[in-house]
Amino acid sequence: MAHAVNPWVALAYLVAGVCFILALRGLSSPATSVRGNRYGMAGMAIAVGTTLLTHVPGERLRMAVCPIYGDCAHGAFVIDWINVGEIVAAIAVGAVIGLVTARRIAMTAMPQLVAAFHSLVGLAAVLVGVAAYLNPEAFGILSSVGKMSAFAASAAPEINPVSRIELGLGVAIGAITFSGSVIAFLKLNGNMGGKPILLPGRHVINLATLAAILGLIGWFTQDQSAWVFWTIVILSFAIGFLLIVPIGGADMPVVVSMLNSYSGWAAAAMGFTLHNTAMIITGALVGSSGAILSYIMCRAMNRSFISVIAGGFGAVADTGGEAKEQRPWKRGSAEDAAFLLGQAEQVIIVPGYGMAVSQAQHILREMTDTLKKAGVRVKYAIHPVAGRMPGHMNVLLAEANVPYEDVFELEDINAEFAQTDIAFVIGANDVTNPAAKTDKTSPIYGMPVLDVERAKTVLFIKRSMGGVGYAGVDNDVFYMDNTMMLLGDAKKMTEEIVKALA
Ligand code: NAP
Repeated sequence: MAHAVNPWVALAYLVAGVCFILALRGLSSPATSVRGNRYGMAGMAIAVGTTLLTHVPGERLRMAVCPIYGDCAHGAFVIDWINVGEIVAAIAVGAVIGLVTARRIAMTAMPQLVAAFHSLVGLAAVLVGVAAYLNPEAFGILSSVGKMSAFAASAAPEINPVSRIELGLGVAIGAITFSGSVIAFLKLNGNMGGKPILLPGRHVINLATLAAILGLIGWFTQDQSAWVFWTIVILSFAIGFLLIVPIGGADMPVVVSMLNSYSGWAAAAMGFTLHNTAMIITGALVGSSGAILSYIMCRAMNRSFISVIAGGFGAVADTGGEAKEQRPWKRGSAEDAAFLLGQAEQVIIVPGYGMAVSQAQHILREMTDTLKKAGVRVKYAIHPVAGRMPGHMNVLLAEANVPYEDVFELEDINAEFAQTDIAFVIGANDVTNPAAKTDKTSPIYGMPVLDVERAKTVLFIKRSMGGVGYAGVDNDVFYMDNTMMLLGDAKKMTEEIVKALA
């Protein structure tokens, strides 16, 4: 079916595309993120509204098909009537689920929520692909031979070869995104261990499976048999699983942004199948921004982009699980900490996941204000993967009105620890672990870390000596002579320190 694009529709999709670009721009900083979100919502409303208007009440499709078949009765038979009521009901159900989930979800559970949403995008792409494969005439993807054979009960309608490539790629990327995101969800949600699961010969298996999928997509252009289509779907579900399973805890942030990218490409491929420009534009924007974010995060984590995409290339076998050696360590009280902080000239605060869990950012800012009033210089050091999502610490500190000029990225502040009196580590662990610099067997080896151990004194807040960070490895800083462990909930401990400072 030839698709003449209505210029108003094209214009509306262009406006939606511009809104999405402005949304991405806005989301690049906490200060403009609310505006960015509003642009995104406006763009989505325009895109969905335009798509609905161009398909209501279905006459457009019916008219396009009748001349081809020369018989409106057949046209009416092959068309899936577009039911506005059903669409509005589906949007309403989705909106209510989204609204309730977004309101209820804890900030610390955002990565698993994002992974769950990505899995839905992947699944939607697979379902659209399956629907298009089973009912190609309704999607306007028949070849000229197919259009004729659609009437011959004996012959399966033939899909045009270009649409077959789009279909194959769409279901493959969608299925990879779905199964990969489900595994990422299970790992992030703690239902599956965060440690890498390294199958023997995994690189060969992965490469062979990927090659088979690509080969079958090529084959599909010549032969649209059900076995080819379904084998592509099944192998793609399998490779999504195989690619994510070997990725270890500390690399999960990169995986989440990579799956975000995959979900965009899956949507773009389905945009071709559905002849929907807005989906192509949006999918490409999500795909490329996710890829750029993954690349930036790989650089921040000192990981090879190709290694992570290829699924745990270079991942180090798990060495954990061995009994922890008993080493001496020093415990301090809130009063001890308050005394040391009050004496310091400069303090660098290193927040991490535990600060987010206990929501200690507000009391932390109060502590900072008190120290500043007493003439202490206070700065915040942010590691790119501290917490459980990119920008997690920045968002929490912004929420507590910590001035932006007090907040420094790793590369801008790391050299200052050596001239700092106190490194105040609150709920962070992996991002301070020197094993990343020295221990080649560690799963976090190679990741840049904050050099807290170089400060004159390290104050380390965590709940127990038994608790480990996300990567599941012990931290030598706990046992250093210049470290004082402040065991307790981050918020409670900081409240006590503020009281002691008063
Ligand atoms: P972390 O290594 O996970 O350590 C968190 C620390 O907080 C633990 O030592 C824990 O010890 C402590 N803690 C937990 N709840 C606490 C509470 N209520 N009060 C006080 N302390 C508490 O955190 P991180 O240093 O921020 O490192 C982030 C890790 O997550 C990295 O491995 C990163 O790769 C990974 N990750 C990051 C992202 C991202 O995008 N940022 C996404 C997924 C994974 P106790 O249990 O003993 O209290």
